Amino acid sequence: MSLEKTLSIIKPDAVKRDLTGKIIAMFEEKGLRVVAQKKIWLSKEQAGSFYDIHRDRPFFGELCEFMSSGPIVAQVLQGDNAIELNREIMGATNPEQAEAGTIRKEFALSMTENSAHGSDSPETAKQEIRFFFSGLEVDFAAVFFSSAILNFPKFERTNKIR
Ligand code: ATP
Ligand code: MG
Repeated sequence: MSLEKTLSIIKPDAVKRDLTGKIIAMFEEKGLRVVAQKKIWLSKEQAGSFYDIHRDRPFFGELCEFMSSGPIVAQVLQGDNAIELNREIMGATNPEQAEAGTIRKEFALSMTENSAHGSDSPETAKQEIRFFFSGLEVDFAAVFFSSAILNFPKFERTNKIR
């Protein structure tokens, strides 16, 4: 087990339907902690830049339209094995193939409007975190959250940091 950080996005379809809190709870219940977070509205060009790897795929235009159709919540999740665990909690890209209890099975509307994004490797996690967050935002959070404060009782810790 290694302590990792990964980039998670709650996509516009889920933010629009006020599912943000429910989705964050699913991460927290499985041991992933939100160490940085922001709600932003991407332009089509910014969405394209984030999903640049898919630029030549037939669904690229539709994906960029969708990702810029409303606000998203971009967040850094931290925990043991966070990259893989985040993707397990999200479920398969196609919600019809996602396992019961996953975010995409519970909430996704379609293959495109599938409620969540998660980095797929340590390299993409690093790049994607830097796409949305400055070093100060992420490093501050990482130092803060991994310090002795984590040994405090849960209610006290919650009061202190949120
Ligand atoms: P994400 O990168 O968003 O976490 P993923 O890694 O499960 O999803 P990718 O193959 O990276 O899947 O595709 C990126 C996104 O593009 C998908 O989450 C989905 O929103 C959209 N997408 C992928 N394949 C298709 C498709 N065949 N038709 C329509 N949209 C698609
Ligand atoms: Mg992907």
